[in-house]
This record gives sequence, C-alpha cells and structure tokens, in this order.
Amino acid sequence: MTEPSIKLEDWAQGISMRAGPVSLGLYQPSPETMEYWHGIERRELMLRQCPACQRCFHPKRIVCSDCGSSELTWVRASGRGSVYSFSEIHRPPSATFATGVPYINGLVRLEEGVHLFTRFIPEPGPVRINAPARLDFRVLESHWLLPVFLVG
Ligand SMILES: [Zn+2]
Repeated sequence: MTEPSIKLEDWAQGISMRAGPVSLGLYQPSPETMEYWHGIERRELMLRQCPACQRCFHPKRIVCSDCGSSELTWVRASGRGSVYSFSEIHRPPSATFATGVPYINGLVRLEEGVHLFTRFIPEPGPVRINAPARLDFRVLESHWLLPVFLVG
C-alpha cells in the first residue's frame, strides 16, 4: 500500500487548514512555498537561506531580516532540532482531527535556528521542552504527507 501524498494539481485550489481562528499557514501553498512542498514529496524539509549571510529562515520568508536580501535560496534542513514548545490536544479543532486525538502540536527549534509549527510524535518519548527531536514524515488526519518530529 502506498502512502497518499500531496498532489501539485490540488494545490491550486488551496488547502484550507485552520485551528479555530488560527490559520495553519503552510497548508495554503503559494508560489513562494512551492519548493517546500516539492521537498515534502522527496521527504526533505526545505528552508529558506540567505546566500549573503547564510542565515536560515522559515519556508514562508521572502526577505532576509538581517541584511535585507530578497534573493533567498532553498536549503535542505538537517532534520535535527529540539522541542521549543508543545501542547497536547484532546479536543479536536474540527471533525477532521477527531480520529487523531490526543495528539501533540508545537514548535520545533531546528539546528538551523528556524522555528516551525509541527506535530510531535513521542517516539520513544516523552515530549518535553528541549527534548531532542528528529524529522520524519507521516500521513496525518488531513490525509496529507507532512513533516513531523519524533521526540525522545
Ligand atoms: Zn542576509
């Protein structure tokens, strides 16, 4: 059985993913984030990087906040980081997530200095602040293949 993956032709319609009033951002692809989504298909986490000062940024960033360059390139993340914050979700924000509760969402702090909103999987666990986290890819309740972080 093959895992479902994000299909490029679906992106043009947008993928509306919200948690109450909060947009989950990267689920709404744009031309500026296409390489991020192509990376997921290859099971690679892609970040933005400034060629002038080498600083890495969130995939949605289009301008370097250090030197102002708008010539950001893409770089493959190491996949290593740590738990910056997390919350265990017991009440699903929509029916889509009802089958997944309880689950753990939060911010991972990547080695590259970038913080990303993600799903934490307690393998081997437990999920704690500053616990090491490593990249993996899972098909989540939305049926999309997405980057997650294994913790412990
Ligand atoms: Zn820069």
